[in-house]
Amino acid sequence: MGYPRTMPTPHDPRSPGPVHDVVILGGGMVGLTLALALDQAGLSVGLVESGRLEGESAATGGGRASMVAFAVRRMWEALGVGGLEGQAQPVRRIQVTEGRLSSGARSAPVAPASMMFTDADLGSDEAGAPLGWMIENRVIRDALVRSVRAKPGIAVFEEATARALMRDGTAAGVQLADGREVAGALLVGAEGRRSMVAETFGLRAVGWDYGQDALAVTLVHETPHDAVAHQLFLPSGPIAVLPMTGNRSNIVWTHRRAAARALAGMDDADLGREIAERVGGLLGRFHFEGTRATWPLALAVADPPVGPRIALVGDSWHSVHPLAGQGLNLGLKDVAALAEVLADAVAVGLDPGAEATLDRYVRWRRFDVTSQALGMDLILRAFAAGGTRLGLLRQAGLAVIDAAAPARRLLARTAGAATGDLPRLLRGERLDTPRAAA
Ligand SMILES: Cc1cc2nc3c(=O)[nH]c(=O)nc-3n(C[C@H](O)[C@H](O)[C@H](O)COP(=O)(O)OP(=O)(O)OC[C@H]3O[C@@H](n4cnc5c(N)ncnc54)[C@H](O)[C@@H]3O)c2cc1C
Repeated sequence: MGYPRTMPTPHDPRSPGPVHDVVILGGGMVGLTLALALDQAGLSVGLVESGRLEGESAATGGGRASMVAFAVRRMWEALGVGGLEGQAQPVRRIQVTEGRLSSGARSAPVAPASMMFTDADLGSDEAGAPLGWMIENRVIRDALVRSVRAKPGIAVFEEATARALMRDGTAAGVQLADGREVAGALLVGAEGRRSMVAETFGLRAVGWDYGQDALAVTLVHETPHDAVAHQLFLPSGPIAVLPMTGNRSNIVWTHRRAAARALAGMDDADLGREIAERVGGLLGRFHFEGTRATWPLALAVADPPVGPRIALVGDSWHSVHPLAGQGLNLGLKDVAALAEVLADAVAVGLDPGAEATLDRYVRWRRFDVTSQALGMDLILRAFAAGGTRLGLLRQAGLAVIDAAAPARRLLARTAGAATGDLPRLLRGERLDTPRAAA
């Protein structure tokens, strides 16, 4: 049984408009990747973005970079996204430390407790793959936008203000402020936090405000980073030191909101001193590159993430603490699963907006999303809590993981987004369907 491919737009049955298989609201890194995946599977896509695709967004401005899991990079390769070569720094080792780094040599033992896992912990089936890649968000977005622009099957509506969302039994879509309507069999919310799709259709989020901001800055330093990422857990919040191409590192410093904003307002010399006090001799002498900004942090997970003819992906579904650098990776795993579910549905003539199709998507992703969101929350609380006994427990926990190969393997594969039942794209396979070939 097929579903109607051309139908009147839901709000004005007298003026049939083009109807897409899927309408995506939000052209961030997640929405753009979903558009490419669906296009590869032969689905027609309407992509609505409030800004300009080439413009700066909240996620690309202010010195932001992402640790992209190796399976995600594999997915972008399968989707033909080029232009990342030479701009992606492999991450080969992740070192987790409780406390500041010592001010001595960077190879000196760090105190009081630490653990480490490496790309070797991924196992022989992933031989040679790094744990992940550090890439500037603006580089990722530029590469995705170039790919989207080259696809005639993706209709882009940019600088487009969504006035209202609409839905009936056969379609869902967006009414734009200029009067146009963009409708499809399925409407996907990829607009990041505060999703209009979630709000309009009552997909409620559970979660809480962390009362913290993340400050992101890029440093150019004299000492090589050797492809090692550091996560330092301090009582006030974690600091990540993430290797970038060249002798550069991205610092993501999470602190109580007022303190983080005060740090962001410091001059370079004062902020440099604050950072050096915590990262010790790790980077040698350094100076700042680019701009800096802070982002408020909250945990928010929409439950359920789907409804009749609507679905959420990325931060629209789940906004998580950046301590493990997994927010974007989680969103791109949603993309790989949703695209495969929709490709399978249309390959046998099913409606992409049907309840059974969306149920399969939720079953595939819910456990990973919930366990990672809550897992990060738990780690954050465990390291923030004071008390000698808890401190000893944390140190014992780090030592146990450090010594246990299976635990290190799990951490390495989680960082690489290679755990669980992987969708084809994350295994590096294309998503071609008979529809795409037609
Ligand atoms: C400091 C920091 C560091 C991080 N580091 C990492 C990391 O190392 N690794 C990692 O995996 N994750 C990381 N994250 C998380 C990651 O940045 C986010 O999960 C990711 O950007 C979410 O992408 P998205 O496309 O879902 O949403 P967004 O990036 O928020 O994009 C949403 C898009 O939708 C558009 N939009 C919004 N509303 C509308 C509307 N009504 N109509 C049309 N368009 C709309 C916006 O303009 C934007 O282009 C980090 C987060 C922070 C704060």
